[in-house]
Amino acid sequence: MPKSAGTMIVITGKSEELIRQVRRALYARKKVQVFKSALDTRWDSAAIATHNGVRFEAVPVSSSADLERLVEPDTEVVAIEEVQFFDEGILALCDRWANEGRTVIAAGLDQDFRGQPFGFMPILLALADEVIKLRAICARCGQPASKTQRLVDGRPASWDEPTILIGAAERYEARCRRCHRVLHAPRNGHRRNRRAASTPQTVEQQERLF
Ligand code: ZN
Repeated sequence: MPKSAGTMIVITGKSEELIRQVRRALYARKKVQVFKSALDTRWDSAAIATHNGVRFEAVPVSSSADLERLVEPDTEVVAIEEVQFFDEGILALCDRWANEGRTVIAAGLDQDFRGQPFGFMPILLALADEVIKLRAICARCGQPASKTQRLVDGRPASWDEPTILIGAAERYEARCRRCHRVLHAPRNGHRRNRRAASTPQTVEQQERLF
């Protein structure tokens, strides 16, 4: 059999899809390693049960450098949960693993609680061979949801809060565009547009922006 060409799959929207893909790889008797960010204290990783009854959980890792050390030379499939919590070193690492012939499956949020692109995730999505963007179900109205609602004491969080909160008493739920709320959001709801609008520009410069 020819050596695998390698591939990078990025999943956003539903963590179940990563588990499904890992199960498939195990069923095909591939050597699989599953990791998650050690920052991820919000959810317990679901244990992955395989066809022969083996159950294992994602190994918590605190940096891309640690992750690099933990991946074994003969691992064919590297799966990463909550990839948005890693440092930017994860970008080159995922790309290199795929170039080496491995299958990289990275799952994470592509938007932060404000509905803005999450850190380096747009770059990871661009580097991917395949992007699987799924929608959850809105916790309020039951329609397809692509936003993450942050709630603090049951109330929508404020735009100026940090993107990543560790150990705070906040809660998250999936919401559709209509039900997604961010307190004190700028009127046009987009940082980049706001910056562009506040900088005096010639028509020529503006055209270059779009
Ligand atoms: Zn809704």
